[in-house]
Amino acid sequence: MIAVLKHNTSDEQLKNLTDWLSAQGLGVHISRGNYQTVIGLIGDTAHVDEELLASLEMVDSVKRVTDPFKSANRKFHPEDSKIEVGNAAFGAGNFAVIAGPCSVESEEQVIAIAKAVKAAGATLLRGGAFKPRTSPYDFQGLKAEGIELLLKAKKETGLPIVTEIMNANHLPLFEDVDCIQVGARNMQNFELLKELGQTRKPILLKRGLANTIKEMLMSVEYIMAGGNENVILCERGIRTFDSAYTRNTLDLGAVAVLHELTHLPVVVDPSHATGASKYVKPMAMAAVAGGADGLMIEVHNDPAKALCDGAQSLTPEQFANTMTAVNAVRNAILDIE
Ligand code: PEP
Ligand code: MN
Repeated sequence: MIAVLKHNTSDEQLKNLTDWLSAQGLGVHISRGNYQTVIGLIGDTAHVDEELLASLEMVDSVKRVTDPFKSANRKFHPEDSKIEVGNAAFGAGNFAVIAGPCSVESEEQVIAIAKAVKAAGATLLRGGAFKPRTSPYDFQGLKAEGIELLLKAKKETGLPIVTEIMNANHLPLFEDVDCIQVGARNMQNFELLKELGQTRKPILLKRGLANTIKEMLMSVEYIMAGGNENVILCERGIRTFDSAYTRNTLDLGAVAVLHELTHLPVVVDPSHATGASKYVKPMAMAAVAGGADGLMIEVHNDPAKALCDGAQSLTPEQFANTMTAVNAVRNAILDIE
């Protein structure tokens, strides 16, 4: 991190500033030019409050030259990470598709969908048991029973399961869950992230509704700092100004940026990103062409009757058709990579 000082900074102000920085355990490198003095901060600047430093009277501007996220940073870990979930793997050339209903509704529903998505090539089953709904009057999920039903579907199909956690107190219920999802609304639930950092379960961390890429990487840091390095990122669309036709704006640029900044795999969820089943296939194809390490797609055997997110859910037939298209794109880009 460097701080550019205002040109009229006195020696006394400079000393006060360097003393303040030294007290925070940082080394200081001072470069005095004819017009400007620049201070280079040496050491772990992750704890430095950038805004506070920039607000000091003698400081003109502050620039971070090293990233505040360390564990996820590709600079310190140039190779892609491969994250395994059961027999499926994401990253380092591995690609996997997570498919299933928005929420687990019944044994028949989840098992029928699990079989259908497996037949079409999905390698993981998703299904919400604890549902973060905007309205408290909407279906909140089958909770513990929902997890039991997912485990039954896993037994029937062999597919590893991915399901969302909303409260760290529920962790004992997730003992046999293969991958724990942190939904968009909890991306900055830091206490939950810290608890997940104490586990060694693969975590699928979804981008928050209005969170920056840097904030997402800092949330990853919360998990990894606890020692859990099994993190998969998920771009699921962000809030922008136009919600008339799509639920969110799919930020595919984030996939390319994340691949540059971090060694962790990046999955795309075109279902929540668009909110409409007709846009899922083209966005799934685009995500794969753009280098996504996997997809998460909502599938329902009867979308019109789904208790949650029916409008964006594919039928098993539409999902199979999407998988054919996704595989064609994957094959087409293999030579390019
Ligand atoms: C979900 O995956 O069902 C979900 C609630 O997603 P998000 O957190 O991305 O809205
Ligand atoms: Mn959903």
